[in-house]
Amino acid sequence: MADKYTQFVSHGIGKDLAKRLGLPQPARLRRYAPGLPLVPGPVLVLGTGRMDANGADELASELAAWGLDVRRNALPKEKLGAIILVLDDVGHPDDLAKPVLTAAQSLRDLAPSARVVTVSRTPDSAGLPAVAAARQAVDGLLRSLAKELRAGATANGILLANGVGAVRLSALGALRFFLSGRSAFVDGQLLTVAKDAGQLPPDPDRPLAGKVAVVTGAARGIGAAIARTLYRDGARLVVVDIPAAGDHLAQVANEVHGTALQVDITAEDAGRRIIDHALERHGGLDILVHNAGITRDKLLANMDENRWNAVIGVNIAAQLRINEAVLASNPHGLSPRIVSVASTSGIAGNRGQTNYAASKGGVIGMVRATAPLLAERGGSINAVAPGFIETEMTARIPFATREVARRLNSLQQGGRPDDVAEAIAFLASDAAGGISGEVLRVCGQNLVGA
Ligand code: NAD
Repeated sequence: MADKYTQFVSHGIGKDLAKRLGLPQPARLRRYAPGLPLVPGPVLVLGTGRMDANGADELASELAAWGLDVRRNALPKEKLGAIILVLDDVGHPDDLAKPVLTAAQSLRDLAPSARVVTVSRTPDSAGLPAVAAARQAVDGLLRSLAKELRAGATANGILLANGVGAVRLSALGALRFFLSGRSAFVDGQLLTVAKDAGQLPPDPDRPLAGKVAVVTGAARGIGAAIARTLYRDGARLVVVDIPAAGDHLAQVANEVHGTALQVDITAEDAGRRIIDHALERHGGLDILVHNAGITRDKLLANMDENRWNAVIGVNIAAQLRINEAVLASNPHGLSPRIVSVASTSGIAGNRGQTNYAASKGGVIGMVRATAPLLAERGGSINAVAPGFIETEMTARIPFATREVARRLNSLQQGGRPDDVAEAIAFLASDAAGGISGEVLRVCGQNLVGA
């Protein structure tokens, strides 16, 4: 359900008024549901056209094999579902002109909620300055284009590490996510694919079939949405929350046909209890989502020890301790895909949230440093950083502040708990096997910060 402002400017007098005054007119976003087409129209695949490069050709054949209507040249005035720019072979900023300006001619023909996706290489592995310049130029181009697109269309990029091909499975997994309605509230982001690991699921509508997943803080809000989404995607669930949230937790557990575990994640033995429960009741632990989190906002000048310690304790110290228990669980050989919930506050900062932003910055640091430890066992760890999401937490923000916060992103609206859950479900799937140590923002390209 759209917020009240969006309802007002979507019809009749409100729509006319918004147009005349140049007010935001948030689009209805195309969100994923099993069975829906991947993209809302034909897919135009463009490359640099260099004789020695065939990335765009190979990708076009792969997408045709998925059953997509793939074009190498746009037909006039036809509504496109997506434009994919394969720029993995750029060697100089001059190489960008042809594919980018060709894409430009089709931007007015994008269907609502269409996608633009760039496929390029990580600049820091470039070596030559001209190559690094061309690769970094894609970053600026992509983030600016995302701010120009309208009607729910988004632009995101895949960064391939050296040696990872554009049509390798891990890159295709990321491409599928960005094309689909699963990434509805992800905009202006670049995701690095570091390895050729990962595989596409046999059934794209049940990518987590057979996996056992633990979600903390699952009694309500984003955590409950994560549990429902992982269940829809085929996982068996363990939902975790504090004893005081026991009734709501039991409801969620029933809904997702999973088991409930009442545990305060700050308890010394929380990791052990979570692992034992998953192994004894479900025979494994393939996915671990660290979602439980709290806020205790105060300006630092007014901060007390209780507020500071509570936030650090739940939001980062508990995650560190539980991960240590997972890494120490050698006899069982656990190698889960871990996804932690960070926040854009941990990247850009937020007034009144020094404790919260410190804890969420901590999550990002932890994820980066844990990735190599899990890689040795075949696991992965990533973070999602939500921006403004419509939950009980954000419903308590005073009206005017909330209305401004909600519009300050390229999609001019708040995200939904489902949007965060979809990104987590992707990172928890084998399709994301080549992605680890990354932070994916789910913020509609929040205009605050990076
Ligand atoms: P919420 O307050 O609605 O839900 C959090 C859940 O975590 C609750 O069920 C709570 O009981 C549980 N929890 C708290 N402390 C716990 C503990 N010690 N042990 C076990 N469970 C505990 O919050 P939400 O809005 O759904 O947020 C979920 C996550 O997303 C948090 O990490 C939050 O920081 C993050 N986030 C939210 C937003 C947003 O806009 N809502 C934005 C960025 C990040």
